[in-house]
Amino acid sequence: MASHDLHDEYGRSISYLRISVTDKCNYRCVYCMPAEGVAARGHDELLSAEEIARFVRLVAQEGIRRIRLTGGEPLVSHRIVPLIREIRAIPEIEDISLTTNGALLPRLAPELRDAGLDRVNISLDTLDADQFARITRLGRLEQALAGIDAALAFGFDPVKVNTVVVRRLKQDTFGLARLSIDRPVHVRFIEYMPIGSEETIGACKNEPHCPPGVSGAAPELHPEAWDVTDIVPSDELREQISEAGKRAGVGPLLPVGEHAPAGAGPAQYWRFAGAQGTVGFISAMSNHFCNRCNRLRLTADGKLRPCLFSDDEYPVRDALRASDDARVLAIYRDAVHHKPLEHETTDGTARFMSQIGG
Ligand code: SAM
Ligand code: SF4
Repeated sequence: MASHDLHDEYGRSISYLRISVTDKCNYRCVYCMPAEGVAARGHDELLSAEEIARFVRLVAQEGIRRIRLTGGEPLVSHRIVPLIREIRAIPEIEDISLTTNGALLPRLAPELRDAGLDRVNISLDTLDADQFARITRLGRLEQALAGIDAALAFGFDPVKVNTVVVRRLKQDTFGLARLSIDRPVHVRFIEYMPIGSEETIGACKNEPHCPPGVSGAAPELHPEAWDVTDIVPSDELREQISEAGKRAGVGPLLPVGEHAPAGAGPAQYWRFAGAQGTVGFISAMSNHFCNRCNRLRLTADGKLRPCLFSDDEYPVRDALRASDDARVLAIYRDAVHHKPLEHETTDGTARFMSQIGG
Protein backbone atom coordinates (compact mmCIF):
# COMPACT_ATOMS: atom_id res chain seq x y z
CA MET A 1 0.00 0.00 0.00
CA ALA A 2 1.42 3.42 -0.93
CA SER A 3 1.83 5.88 1.92
CA HIS A 4 0.97 9.58 1.62
CA ASP A 5 0.48 12.56 3.92
CA LEU A 6 -3.13 13.46 4.45
CA HIS A 7 -3.85 17.18 4.86
CA ASP A 8 -7.02 18.70 6.21
CA GLU A 9 -9.09 21.43 4.58
CA TYR A 10 -6.79 24.11 5.96
CA GLY A 11 -3.54 22.55 4.75
CA ARG A 12 -2.52 21.07 8.11
CA SER A 13 -0.67 17.78 7.73
CA ILE A 14 -2.22 15.22 10.11
CA SER A 15 0.65 13.16 11.47
CA TYR A 16 -0.13 12.66 15.16
CA LEU A 17 -2.71 10.31 16.69
CA ARG A 18 -3.57 10.28 20.40
CA ILE A 19 -5.16 7.03 21.44
CA SER A 20 -7.13 6.56 24.64
CA VAL A 21 -6.61 2.90 25.47
CA THR A 22 -9.02 2.93 28.41
CA ASP A 23 -11.22 5.42 30.21
CA LYS A 24 -10.62 3.66 33.55
CA CYS A 25 -8.20 5.15 36.03
CA ASN A 26 -6.64 4.33 39.40
CA TYR A 27 -6.93 8.04 40.37
CA ARG A 28 -9.89 10.42 40.37
CA CYS A 29 -8.28 13.82 39.82
CA VAL A 30 -10.69 16.53 40.86
CA TYR A 31 -10.43 18.49 37.61
CA CYS A 32 -10.64 15.43 35.38
CA MET A 33 -13.21 13.00 36.77
CA PRO A 34 -16.19 12.87 39.08
CA ALA A 35 -15.43 11.32 42.50
CA GLU A 36 -17.44 8.22 41.61
CA GLY A 37 -15.40 7.70 38.42
CA VAL A 38 -16.95 7.31 34.98
CA ALA A 39 -19.51 4.63 34.10
CA ALA A 40 -17.64 1.46 33.17
CA ARG A 41 -18.09 0.50 29.54
CA GLY A 42 -18.70 -3.12 28.62
CA HIS A 43 -15.67 -4.99 27.33
CA ASP A 44 -17.34 -5.22 23.91
CA GLU A 45 -17.63 -1.47 23.65
CA LEU A 46 -13.88 -0.95 23.87
CA LEU A 47 -11.44 -1.45 21.04
CA SER A 48 -9.15 -4.43 21.51
CA ALA A 49 -5.37 -4.08 21.18
CA GLU A 50 -5.63 -5.83 17.80
CA GLU A 51 -8.26 -3.37 16.61
CA ILE A 52 -6.24 -0.37 17.72
CA ALA A 53 -3.10 -1.74 16.06
CA ARG A 54 -5.04 -2.48 12.87
CA PHE A 55 -6.29 1.11 12.86
CA VAL A 56 -2.77 2.48 13.33
CA ARG A 57 -1.48 0.30 10.48
CA LEU A 58 -4.16 1.76 8.20
CA VAL A 59 -3.69 5.41 9.13
CA ALA A 60 0.10 5.08 8.97
CA GLN A 61 -0.52 4.85 5.23
CA GLU A 62 -2.27 8.22 5.47
CA GLY A 63 0.63 10.02 7.10
CA ILE A 64 0.33 9.23 10.83
CA ARG A 65 3.89 9.09 12.20
CA ARG A 66 3.57 9.73 15.93
CA ILE A 67 1.39 7.92 18.44
CA ARG A 68 0.57 8.94 22.01
CA LEU A 69 -1.12 6.39 24.27
CA THR A 70 -3.23 7.91 26.97
CA GLY A 71 -6.52 7.47 28.78
CA GLY A 72 -7.88 7.27 31.51
CA GLU A 73 -4.74 5.70 32.87
CA PRO A 74 -3.12 3.67 30.08
CA LEU A 75 -1.05 1.61 32.51
CA VAL A 76 -4.12 0.05 34.16
CA SER A 77 -4.90 -1.61 30.82
CA HIS A 78 -3.56 -5.15 30.51
CA ARG A 79 -3.36 -4.57 26.77
CA ILE A 80 -0.80 -1.81 26.96
CA VAL A 81 2.43 -3.81 26.52
CA PRO A 82 1.19 -6.00 23.62
CA LEU A 83 -0.31 -2.91 22.01
CA ILE A 84 3.00 -1.04 22.12
CA ARG A 85 4.73 -4.09 20.64
CA GLU A 86 2.27 -4.19 17.74
CA ILE A 87 2.55 -0.47 17.05
CA ARG A 88 6.35 -0.64 17.22
CA ALA A 89 6.28 -3.19 14.42
CA ILE A 90 4.64 -0.68 12.03
CA PRO A 91 7.56 0.76 10.03
CA GLU A 92 6.01 4.19 9.36
CA ILE A 93 5.54 4.96 13.07
CA GLU A 94 8.54 7.01 14.17
CA ASP A 95 7.61 7.85 17.75
CA ILE A 96 5.50 6.20 20.46
CA SER A 97 4.87 8.11 23.67
CA LEU A 98 2.62 7.59 26.67
CA THR A 99 0.95 9.91 29.17
CA THR A 100 0.58 8.46 32.66
CA ASN A 101 0.06 9.41 36.28
CA GLY A 102 3.22 7.38 36.91
CA ALA A 103 1.90 5.16 39.71
CA LEU A 104 2.49 1.91 37.82
CA LEU A 105 5.65 3.00 36.01
CA PRO A 106 8.16 1.58 38.51
CA ARG A 107 6.60 -1.87 37.96
CA LEU A 108 6.02 -1.62 34.20
CA ALA A 109 8.92 0.52 32.94
CA PRO A 110 11.16 -2.41 31.88
CA GLU A 111 8.39 -4.13 29.90
CA LEU A 112 7.28 -0.87 28.30
CA ARG A 113 10.82 -0.06 27.24
CA ASP A 114 11.35 -3.56 25.92
CA ALA A 115 8.10 -3.37 23.93
CA GLY A 116 9.37 -0.23 22.18
CA LEU A 117 7.92 2.75 24.02
CA ASP A 118 10.10 5.81 23.30
CA ARG A 119 9.07 8.33 25.91
CA VAL A 120 6.67 9.22 28.70
CA ASN A 121 4.88 12.24 30.10
CA ILE A 122 4.08 12.00 33.80
CA SER A 123 1.39 14.09 35.43
CA LEU A 124 2.32 15.83 38.66
CA ASP A 125 0.32 18.81 39.88
CA THR A 126 1.98 19.48 43.22
CA LEU A 127 4.91 18.49 45.44
CA ASP A 128 2.81 18.81 48.58
CA ALA A 129 1.81 15.31 49.70
CA ASP A 130 -1.51 16.39 51.25
CA GLN A 131 -2.48 18.46 48.25
CA PHE A 132 -1.50 15.61 45.93
CA ALA A 133 -3.80 13.26 47.83
CA ARG A 134 -6.64 15.80 47.67
CA ILE A 135 -6.21 16.48 43.96
CA THR A 136 -5.91 12.85 42.86
CA ARG A 137 -8.33 11.57 45.53
CA LEU A 138 -6.72 8.08 45.34
CA GLY A 139 -3.05 8.81 44.75
CA ARG A 140 0.12 9.34 46.79
CA LEU A 141 2.88 11.79 45.91
CA GLU A 142 5.64 9.22 46.28
CA GLN A 143 4.05 7.16 43.49
CA ALA A 144 4.42 9.97 40.95
CA LEU A 145 7.97 10.75 42.12
CA ALA A 146 8.93 7.08 41.88
CA GLY A 147 7.39 7.08 38.39
CA ILE A 148 9.64 9.96 37.32
CA ASP A 149 12.70 8.21 38.78
CA ALA A 150 11.79 4.99 36.95
CA ALA A 151 11.29 6.84 33.67
CA LEU A 152 14.77 8.37 33.95
CA ALA A 153 16.38 5.13 35.13
CA PHE A 154 14.97 3.11 32.22
CA GLY A 155 16.16 5.58 29.60
CA PHE A 156 12.92 7.11 28.36
CA ASP A 157 13.92 10.30 26.61
CA PRO A 158 12.73 12.96 26.95
CA VAL A 159 10.87 12.64 30.27
CA LYS A 160 8.21 15.33 30.58
CA VAL A 161 6.20 16.28 33.65
CA ASN A 162 2.70 17.69 33.05
CA THR A 163 1.19 20.09 35.57
CA VAL A 164 -2.33 21.42 35.16
CA VAL A 165 -2.42 24.80 36.84
CA VAL A 166 -5.66 25.81 38.55
CA ARG A 167 -5.67 29.19 40.23
CA ARG A 168 -7.70 28.20 43.25
CA LEU A 169 -5.33 25.30 44.04
CA LYS A 170 -2.46 27.76 44.63
CA GLN A 171 0.12 25.19 43.58
CA ASP A 172 3.82 25.79 44.25
CA THR A 173 4.66 26.10 40.59
CA PHE A 174 8.20 27.34 41.19
CA GLY A 175 8.86 24.24 43.30
CA LEU A 176 7.73 22.10 40.37
CA ALA A 177 9.76 24.12 37.85
CA ARG A 178 12.84 23.56 40.01
CA LEU A 179 12.65 19.83 39.27
CA SER A 180 14.15 20.71 35.88
CA ILE A 181 17.35 22.11 37.38
CA ASP A 182 19.20 19.05 38.58
CA ARG A 183 17.59 16.35 36.46
CA PRO A 184 16.82 16.11 32.75
CA VAL A 185 13.07 16.52 33.03
CA HIS A 186 10.89 18.96 31.14
CA VAL A 187 8.22 20.42 33.41
CA ARG A 188 5.27 21.69 31.39
CA PHE A 189 2.51 23.86 32.79
CA ILE A 190 -0.87 23.39 31.12
CA GLU A 191 -3.68 25.89 31.30
CA TYR A 192 -6.79 24.43 32.89
CA MET A 193 -9.33 23.58 30.18
CA PRO A 194 -13.13 23.29 30.27
CA ILE A 195 -13.55 19.58 29.62
CA GLY A 196 -16.59 17.85 31.04
CA SER A 197 -20.34 17.64 30.96
CA GLU A 198 -21.69 20.51 28.90
CA GLU A 199 -25.02 20.52 30.71
CA THR A 200 -23.40 21.42 33.98
CA ILE A 201 -20.21 23.20 33.03
CA GLY A 202 -19.76 26.47 34.91
CA ALA A 203 -22.80 25.71 37.07
CA CYS A 204 -21.50 23.71 39.98
CA LYS A 205 -24.19 21.47 41.47
CA ASN A 206 -22.75 21.96 44.94
CA GLU A 207 -23.49 25.66 45.08
CA PRO A 208 -23.57 27.58 47.34
CA HIS A 209 -20.72 25.50 48.86
CA CYS A 210 -18.73 25.67 45.67
CA PRO A 211 -19.27 28.95 43.83
CA PRO A 212 -17.04 29.22 40.76
CA GLY A 213 -13.67 30.78 41.33
CA VAL A 214 -13.51 30.60 45.12
CA SER A 215 -10.31 29.54 46.75
CA GLY A 216 -10.99 26.39 48.61
CA ALA A 217 -9.86 22.86 49.22
CA ALA A 218 -9.25 20.69 46.18
CA PRO A 219 -12.28 18.42 46.69
CA GLU A 220 -14.53 21.38 45.88
CA LEU A 221 -13.10 21.49 42.41
CA HIS A 222 -14.64 19.20 39.80
CA PRO A 223 -14.93 19.23 36.03
CA GLU A 224 -18.46 20.60 36.01
CA ALA A 225 -17.35 23.54 38.14
CA TRP A 226 -14.76 24.75 35.63
CA ASP A 227 -14.58 28.49 35.74
CA VAL A 228 -12.61 30.91 33.60
CA THR A 229 -11.13 32.57 36.70
CA ASP A 230 -9.27 29.33 37.42
CA ILE A 231 -7.13 29.68 34.32
CA VAL A 232 -3.65 31.02 35.00
CA PRO A 233 -2.49 32.36 31.62
CA SER A 234 0.94 31.04 30.62
CA ASP A 235 2.46 34.53 30.34
CA GLU A 236 1.43 35.37 33.89
CA LEU A 237 2.74 32.05 35.21
CA ARG A 238 6.05 32.31 33.38
CA GLU A 239 6.60 35.75 34.87
CA GLN A 240 5.81 34.44 38.37
CA ILE A 241 8.18 31.49 38.05
CA SER A 242 10.90 33.66 36.57
CA GLU A 243 10.61 36.18 39.42
CA ALA A 244 10.62 33.37 41.99
CA GLY A 245 13.75 32.01 40.29
CA LYS A 246 15.50 35.36 40.67
CA ARG A 247 14.54 35.59 44.33
CA ALA A 248 15.81 32.04 44.93
CA GLY A 249 19.13 32.78 43.17
CA VAL A 250 18.63 30.37 40.26
CA GLY A 251 18.02 33.24 37.87
CA PRO A 252 15.21 34.14 35.51
CA LEU A 253 13.78 31.77 32.92
CA LEU A 254 15.66 32.06 29.63
CA PRO A 255 14.33 31.07 26.18
CA VAL A 256 15.69 27.66 25.09
CA GLY A 257 16.09 28.64 21.46
CA GLU A 258 16.76 25.53 19.41
CA HIS A 259 17.06 23.24 22.42
CA ALA A 260 13.41 22.30 22.98
CA PRO A 261 12.91 18.62 23.87
CA ALA A 262 11.73 16.18 21.19
CA GLY A 263 8.02 16.21 20.45
CA ALA A 264 7.80 19.86 21.50
CA GLY A 265 4.32 20.24 19.98
CA PRO A 266 2.44 23.30 21.17
CA ALA A 267 4.58 23.99 24.27
CA GLN A 268 6.91 27.01 24.50
CA TYR A 269 10.10 26.06 26.36
CA TRP A 270 12.32 28.05 28.73
CA ARG A 271 15.07 27.07 31.15
CA PHE A 272 17.01 28.20 34.20
CA ALA A 273 20.68 28.88 33.39
CA GLY A 274 22.67 25.65 33.62
CA ALA A 275 19.57 23.49 34.20
CA GLN A 276 19.51 19.94 32.86
CA GLY A 277 15.87 20.17 31.83
CA THR A 278 13.44 22.85 30.69
CA VAL A 279 10.21 24.53 31.74
CA GLY A 280 7.40 24.52 29.19
CA PHE A 281 4.09 26.35 28.91
CA ILE A 282 1.06 25.04 27.03
CA SER A 283 -1.36 27.91 26.54
CA ALA A 284 -4.35 25.97 25.26
CA MET A 285 -6.71 28.68 26.52
CA SER A 286 -4.89 32.02 26.31
CA ASN A 287 -3.21 31.48 22.98
CA HIS A 288 -4.77 28.90 20.67
CA PHE A 289 -2.38 26.90 18.56
CA CYS A 290 -5.11 25.51 16.30
CA ASN A 291 -3.34 26.69 13.15
CA ARG A 292 -0.50 24.26 13.96
CA CYS A 293 -2.68 21.42 15.23
CA ASN A 294 -1.62 18.18 13.54
CA ARG A 295 -3.53 15.70 15.69
CA LEU A 296 -6.58 13.51 15.83
CA ARG A 297 -7.86 11.53 18.81
CA LEU A 298 -9.21 7.99 19.01
CA THR A 299 -11.36 7.25 22.06
CA ALA A 300 -11.30 3.92 23.89
CA ASP A 301 -14.73 3.09 22.42
CA GLY A 302 -13.52 3.67 18.89
CA LYS A 303 -14.57 7.20 18.00
CA LEU A 304 -12.36 9.65 16.16
CA ARG A 305 -12.40 13.20 17.49
CA PRO A 306 -10.88 15.78 15.14
CA CYS A 307 -10.71 18.37 17.97
CA LEU A 308 -10.39 17.96 21.75
CA PHE A 309 -12.94 20.70 22.35
CA SER A 310 -15.56 19.63 19.82
CA ASP A 311 -18.01 16.78 20.39
CA ASP A 312 -18.06 15.84 16.69
CA GLU A 313 -17.10 12.17 16.61
CA TYR A 314 -16.58 9.66 13.81
CA PRO A 315 -17.10 6.03 14.91
CA VAL A 316 -14.71 3.48 13.41
CA ARG A 317 -15.28 0.50 15.72
CA ASP A 318 -17.89 -1.32 13.65
CA ALA A 319 -15.92 -0.94 10.43
CA LEU A 320 -12.79 -2.21 12.21
CA ARG A 321 -14.70 -5.20 13.56
CA ALA A 322 -16.05 -5.98 10.13
CA SER A 323 -12.47 -5.82 8.79
CA ASP A 324 -13.75 -3.28 6.27
CA ASP A 325 -10.50 -1.37 5.73
CA ALA A 326 -11.91 0.76 2.93
CA ARG A 327 -14.71 1.93 5.23
CA VAL A 328 -12.27 2.62 8.10
CA LEU A 329 -10.17 4.77 5.81
CA ALA A 330 -13.21 6.59 4.45
CA ILE A 331 -14.32 7.45 8.01
CA TYR A 332 -10.79 8.54 8.90
CA ARG A 333 -10.57 10.82 5.86
CA ASP A 334 -13.98 12.23 6.68
CA ALA A 335 -12.83 13.03 10.23
CA VAL A 336 -9.69 14.74 8.90
CA HIS A 337 -11.78 16.62 6.35
CA HIS A 338 -14.02 17.92 9.16
CA LYS A 339 -11.24 19.01 11.49
CA PRO A 340 -12.28 22.52 12.48
CA LEU A 341 -10.04 25.49 11.83
CA GLU A 342 -10.20 26.47 15.49
CA HIS A 343 -12.30 25.83 18.57
CA GLU A 344 -14.46 27.57 21.10
CA THR A 345 -12.84 27.11 24.49
CA THR A 346 -15.43 27.84 27.11
CA ASP A 347 -18.35 25.59 26.25
CA GLY A 348 -17.17 22.33 27.81
CA THR A 349 -17.57 18.90 26.27
CA ALA A 350 -19.98 16.00 26.66
CA ARG A 351 -17.18 13.66 27.78
CA PHE A 352 -14.76 14.09 30.67
CA MET A 353 -11.03 14.33 29.88
CA SER A 354 -10.49 10.76 31.05
CA GLN A 355 -12.99 9.60 28.41
CA ILE A 356 -11.43 11.59 25.57
CA GLY A 357 -7.77 10.98 26.21
CA GLY A 358 -5.97 14.13 27.28
N1 SAM B 1 -3.98 9.33 33.42
C1 SAM B 1 -2.95 9.89 32.65
C2 SAM B 1 -2.39 11.14 33.30
O1 SAM B 1 -2.98 11.65 34.23
O2 SAM B 1 -1.35 11.57 32.85
C3 SAM B 1 -3.34 10.19 31.22
C4 SAM B 1 -4.69 10.77 30.97
S1 SAM B 1 -4.96 12.40 31.60
C5 SAM B 1 -6.59 12.71 31.06
C6 SAM B 1 -3.93 13.34 30.50
C7 SAM B 1 -3.59 14.74 30.94
O3 SAM B 1 -4.77 15.52 30.90
C8 SAM B 1 -3.05 14.84 32.35
O4 SAM B 1 -1.81 15.52 32.32
C9 SAM B 1 -4.10 15.65 33.06
O5 SAM B 1 -3.53 16.44 34.07
C10 SAM B 1 -4.68 16.47 31.93
N2 SAM B 1 -5.99 17.03 32.20
C11 SAM B 1 -7.10 16.41 32.68
N3 SAM B 1 -8.14 17.26 32.78
C12 SAM B 1 -7.68 18.47 32.35
C13 SAM B 1 -8.27 19.77 32.21
N4 SAM B 1 -9.53 20.01 32.51
N5 SAM B 1 -7.49 20.77 31.73
C14 SAM B 1 -6.19 20.55 31.40
N6 SAM B 1 -5.59 19.36 31.49
C15 SAM B 1 -6.31 18.33 31.97
FE1 SF4 C 1 -6.83 9.64 35.94
FE2 SF4 C 1 -5.15 11.09 34.52
FE3 SF4 C 1 -7.67 11.92 34.84
FE4 SF4 C 1 -6.04 11.95 36.92
S1 SF4 C 1 -5.80 13.16 35.04
S2 SF4 C 1 -8.13 11.12 36.89
S3 SF4 C 1 -4.76 10.23 36.56
S4 SF4 C 1 -7.03 10.13 33.76
